[in-house]
Formats: sequence, structure tokens, C-alpha cells
Amino acid sequence: MRKSSHLRGLSLWTLTLILACSGASYAAETVALSKKGAALLPIRLSPKATPAVRQSAADLARLLKAMSGADFTVEAQPAPAKAAIVLGLASDFPEVAKDVAWDLKNPIGREQYLMRTSGGSLLLLGATDAAVDYAAWDLLYRLGYRRYFPNEAWEIIPPARDLTLAIDVVEKPDYATRVIWYGWGLWDYNKTAYRAWQRANRAPGRFRLSSGHAYHKIMRRNKAAFKEHPEYLGLWKGERTSTKFCIANPELRKLVADYAVKEITRRPGTDSVSIEPSDGGRWCECEGCAAIGSISDRAVTLANVGAEALTAKVGEKYVGMYAYNQHSPPPTKVRVAPNVVISVATRFIRGGYTLEQLLDGWGKAGGKALGIREYFSSGGRDLPGQQLASNLGYLARVIPYYHSKGARFLTSEAADNWGPCGLGYYTATRMLWDIDEAKRVDHHLNEFVTTCFGKAAKPMHEFYTRLNGSDRPLLSDDLVGRMYRLLAEARSLTKDPAVHKRIDQLTLYTYYAECFRSYRNVRGAPRQKAFEKLIRTAYRMRTTMMVHVKGLYRDLPNRDRTVKVPKGCDWRTPAAKNPWKSDPAFTEAEIETMRKKGIAKHKLFDFTPVSFSSNLVPATNLKGVKKPTAMANGVTARGHRTFYLWVDKAPMDIKLTVTAGMIKHYRDRGPAKVSLYALADPTGNMTAKGSSLPDGKPRTVTLKTTFSGLHRLEVIDGSDMTRINWPKGLRVVADNSPDKKLRLAGGRWTLYFYVPTGCKEVAGYAAAKGGAIETPDGKAAHKFDGKKGFFRIPVAAGQDGKVWRINHVGGKVTLMTTPPFLARSAEELLLPHDLVEKR
Ligand SMILES: [Zn+2]
Repeated sequence: MRKSSHLRGLSLWTLTLILACSGASYAAETVALSKKGAALLPIRLSPKATPAVRQSAADLARLLKAMSGADFTVEAQPAPAKAAIVLGLASDFPEVAKDVAWDLKNPIGREQYLMRTSGGSLLLLGATDAAVDYAAWDLLYRLGYRRYFPNEAWEIIPPARDLTLAIDVVEKPDYATRVIWYGWGLWDYNKTAYRAWQRANRAPGRFRLSSGHAYHKIMRRNKAAFKEHPEYLGLWKGERTSTKFCIANPELRKLVADYAVKEITRRPGTDSVSIEPSDGGRWCECEGCAAIGSISDRAVTLANVGAEALTAKVGEKYVGMYAYNQHSPPPTKVRVAPNVVISVATRFIRGGYTLEQLLDGWGKAGGKALGIREYFSSGGRDLPGQQLASNLGYLARVIPYYHSKGARFLTSEAADNWGPCGLGYYTATRMLWDIDEAKRVDHHLNEFVTTCFGKAAKPMHEFYTRLNGSDRPLLSDDLVGRMYRLLAEARSLTKDPAVHKRIDQLTLYTYYAECFRSYRNVRGAPRQKAFEKLIRTAYRMRTTMMVHVKGLYRDLPNRDRTVKVPKGCDWRTPAAKNPWKSDPAFTEAEIETMRKKGIAKHKLFDFTPVSFSSNLVPATNLKGVKKPTAMANGVTARGHRTFYLWVDKAPMDIKLTVTAGMIKHYRDRGPAKVSLYALADPTGNMTAKGSSLPDGKPRTVTLKTTFSGLHRLEVIDGSDMTRINWPKGLRVVADNSPDKKLRLAGGRWTLYFYVPTGCKEVAGYAAAKGGAIETPDGKAAHKFDGKKGFFRIPVAAGQDGKVWRINHVGGKVTLMTTPPFLARSAEELLLPHDLVEKR
């Protein structure tokens, strides 16, 4: 399509442009914007252009100049005019692009823009000011401009004196809301940079979805009415004291309807008002409310009241509400009004539902579209590979998936932690605009390392691969050592100061990870010292935005009561008076020293983790320990866990004893759900399911199967701890693969595992205190001392091809060189089929 290109980056888009234009019967015209550093077209605005559009024009002119050296003038003049870069609202230029339809009612339509080269001009027309801005930034993107991260070192302005392009596309986003927000909030230094990053990446979307807790706000706005009418409040233990309202009360409903209309009218720019319940329980116990239906039915009923009032009195406006806590399950009796947006939280799901069941259930319950409340980064302390945002594969899976389930609004908790998560935030934002970008994740990684690191792209590709969350890297000497080594190698491969700057920021990030590890691994007085160093270090590097200093500084001392922030050193005290904030930013020489010392200090780990098939079969006549096991009571764990079990002869009733709700104060999280899948069933459908109420009492759950052979058993609870037990002799193993995160709980545990023939060492990762790994002769080969880290146990001659055991351990042990399947006894073990065949 393009006749000539002097632009790096643009060729990447050629294919996309052809695809985007495939509906048109003509090839787009090539238009030159600048030649030999001189502008060939002015930027033309409408005389009616708003300050926002004028700002877009100014930024466009500034960056086009930075790329080409050309001065682009900005002119506001009425039609007709000479050829130009026409930038503005489509409605301000009705004489051009009459073929394009604009829909201002639809939240997605409001973000639509046209980019077209035609008649010597480049048209950048948007439905709204926001869409005009996105068009300007999209033009820059297609010319090779990038703003990967908020810190200016990650802004890429490619030099190109001749700017030309041929384009004809209409763009609109797949998600109307694309908000990646900082859980601990912005701080002084990062506000401007964060907003600049958002604009350059067409975020956060023009549609503002309000879904925060609202019942208290409704009370605040109607103090007199609630004082006069205590019956508006929910009935709780015989008194009208609950802020869950009496939703059956028609007067209360009218009050909420009026509130919704007033809230929207008060702020004309907003699209939605929240009618999300207040936090906690205490739903009204009156008969009228009970008659409405479940908690979700009631919450939806009130949201619908507001939504219907908006439709009747205001027009195209929305009500926001979460599927969360007690109103997490889909409603059973009440339909969701079309203009109510239910946002499904992807964590903290109650009632034993899977996320898919919630999405399907709420999707079928009405409403035009769903919202998603994600947790791209939440907790994890900004360590490498610990957040969802550091797992590009996860992002590429879920963003199109939610969309396929009807989601059009996504907000995600995140943090100012661009070291581990920046590439994920950038890629997610591309995908939220266009879900097809999920197929191009590898492209984005490659483009990122090539653009940001030039000659050092290769080691930096490996650096980012090592930080990828899908491989679940563990913070260890090995990981930190490899990060330093890759950064040192990368720095030696280029003289480009811009690249050096980026590598230095990532070195600081690595140093942060090192400091965090030092802090985490010590106790007592050294811990306080390591804590102070960690906070000082993070604060000194704050403007790199590699780690979220505000979150760390505010939250860590609250979580870790063994450390103290001295008076006057807290996060709020300004730098002038705060000794912990007194250090200057790190110098290049200091960062060089960090790399050198970091390499010397962190030895690489020298075992290679091995993966094993989960196609398991019984293994008979295994040699090894056969002492009575302490786990005769079954396997106790929390969250989601996977077992494999073997059915010798179908049909069979598998009788499990399930004790759910072993942690009393978590018993409001719904029953433990058990589902069975026969791997011989070609449909892949669930074979049987059951559940047990979370009351700490053992119950028999019978699962019927007509299939013989291997079955997979999934157990999900609300992290309130569930024990699964089964008849003696039934072959059952728990999957303890690193990616399964098996959370064994309920005290110390003893389980058996198999060391394959020829295996030279048993190695893995442990965070466990007490207990040991025992060789087949029952001797302790490795004792757990409470230190988190890798362990290696040499396998002596004659100890391979046998069953070992992990005995009386409190904590987590992950096996990385042996099959990760744990059994109650040697007799009950199942093993990868290829190992059994080899024996
Ligand atoms: Zn009531």
C-alpha cells in the first residue's frame, strides 16, 4: 500500500493497514507530511475546536517536530481550505468523510475515529474530543512513536525527516473502559507521567464506570429522609439499623431513583452512577425483602430502580454494580436492566462459583454488557514474575476471553511497578483496544526489546523471558544473579546513552529485588536494618517508577509488625524533614557497582528443572519407604487443588470424605465444590460433581463414574481449608507442580513421591520449617530449617527408581526434578506413564 517508506516501525503496520482497509475498493492515497525536515501540511482545526482538541494538536505538532525536525503550524479556519492534517470532531467537518457513520450514544461509538489520507490531506476525525486525541496518538504510533512506560526514558521518538503515510481506517475500541489504576494511588512525582502514558496509549477510555460502595453515600445525600424514615433501613435482629436498606419499601426505592437522577445531573459529563451495596453483610430480614429473592436479586432490584429512572428522565446513562461478596452469585429471579453494568471481580469469589460460571450466569441475567474487575497487580511486592501483569500469556488469554463472555468494561488494580509489570500493562492496553492484538504478544515483546535496547536486544529478551510470570520464576540467588548478568552483558553491547539509561533503571529494579530478599530472609534486629535499607532504596529510585514506592512504604510496615518506622520517617513526612527520604538519586557509578557486586554475590543455580507428563498410571511393586503415614486422614489444603485418581473397574461410586470450612471465620465463602473428570471421556465434560457445606463437619460425597482409568478431581473452596479423604487403597495423588501452587495446610504433612531411575538429584524450592525429605531407607536426606530457597539432594546409587517421602513438614515444598505427584502411601502412587513403561 505504501509506495515508499523511510520510517522504521511503519512497515510493521503494512499488513494491518491492508487488512483494515480490505473493506474499501481502493488503495489509500499516499500523503507526505514532511520532506527533508520541512512540514508539507499544516495542522488544521475548526474555529470551534475545544481546548482539549487544541491540546491534542499542540502535542501532535510537538512530537512530529521531534521526529522530523519540521515545524507544523496549527491553524483554525473554516472550510474550504487547502490540503492539511485535519484534526477535530467529525461534526465540525461535515463536508468530509460523509460515508462514515458516527454513533455518539454508544459508549464505544463515542471513541470512534477516522484516519484517512485523501485529496492530499490527512483526516484525523473523532466522535468526541477523547476520540480526536486517540487519533492523534494513533498517528504517532503508526509513525513509530512509542511510550512504553511512564518514565520518559521509555518514550521512543524515532528520527525520520520524511514522514509519509497511506491510510484509511475507522478505529474503535473493543473495551469502552480500559483502566489500569494504582491500588495505592498516585504520588507527587508520578501523576503527570502516568496520565501522559495513558493518553499515548489510548487509555483509560472515555466511559467512566462508577461501581464503588454507594449505599452510605445515598444515606449521606438524604440525611433528613433517613432520619424521618427509619423503616428505609434494613431490618437486622429486630431493629432497623442495617445500611443494606429495606429494598422492598417503595418509598426507599423512589428515594434511590431520585438519587440516581440527581447524581448524574450534578455531574453532566459522567456516564454512570453506582448503586453498589455497602460492604459487609446484614441484609434486611423482613418478609418483603425475602420475597424479592437472593441477595443478588435484591441488589439488582435496587440497581434496576436507579437505571429505569435514568432511562426515563435523563437518557442513555448507566448504573454500575459489582458481582462481589454476598451478591457475587448471579440472580435467580430478577433480570438485570439493559443499562446496568455488572462488574465481575475475578478474585474473592464467594459461594463456590468458578469465574466462568459467574460470567455465564451474569451474562445471561440481562444487561447489555459486563464489566470486569481485574487484579493485574495486587500484592506481590513488585517481585519478578509474581503478578498477573508479568504473565503475558495470561493477559493474552483473559482479555479476549472476557470479551467473548460479553465484557466491554475492564478496570484493573495495578501499581506503579513498571519494572516487573510495565510490558504487561503496555501490552494489555493494546489488547483492550483491539483483542486481536492478543495474537501478537510475541511481536510486542520482540518489538519492545528491539526498540528499547537495540544492539542489546538479545540478552534483554532473555531478561524479560526470565521475568515472565507464566514460568513462575522464584526469587532466588539464581534469578537475581541471572538478572544482573544479563543487564551487564546488555550494557556492554551498546554505547547508546538512551539504552544505558533503560538498563540502569532495570538494574535498580534488580537491586530492589535483592534488597527485598535480604529483608525477607532475616529476623530480629537485622530485619529492621534491612527494612530501612529497602524503603530508602525504593524511595531513592522512585522516579524511575520501577517499583511502587508509595504502596511499599505505606503498606509493608502495616503487614509486618516486626519492623517499625521511626517517628518522622513515615511515608507522609516530607523529604525536607524525613531522614529516610534524604538520600539523593542513584548515580551511574553506584548502579555500575550494584551490577558488579550483584554478579559476585549471586551464584547461579546449577540444576535444571524437569517437567513431567500428567498422563498417569498405577505403578506396582515400587520400592521405598512404606512406614505408616501420618496422612491417613487425607490431604488438607486451601484454594484450588488438583488430584488424580485411578478407577480400576467402572462403574464405580467414588466415596470421598470432605470436611469444608476448617477455618471458622471464613465459613461465609460457600461450600467446597468437588468435580470429577474422566480422562477417557472424549467430550471432556464433567463426569460428576458434589459439594460439602463449610461447617467443619465431615461429609460423604459420592461421585459416580462409568469410565475406568485416570480421572482428574478438582477441589475448590473459598480458601477456608478443606480436607479430602478417601478409602484406603484408592489410588489418589495430589498435583504439586510448581504452576499448581498446592497450598497444603492444617499443620504438618507427610506424603510420598517417586524418584525416577537415573535421577541424579532431588531438587526444588522450599519454604518450610521442620520435617525432612527421606531416602527410601528412611534416613533424613535434607532437613527444612525455615529458610526459603532452593534445595538439592544428591541421589546415591540404588536410591533412584524408588519411593521417597516428605515427612512431617510444615510449609511448602516444590519438587522440580522429580514427578510432582504426592500420595498418602507408596501403594497409592500414580506415575507418568512413560516412567512406568521405562521401568
Ligand atoms: Zn426489607
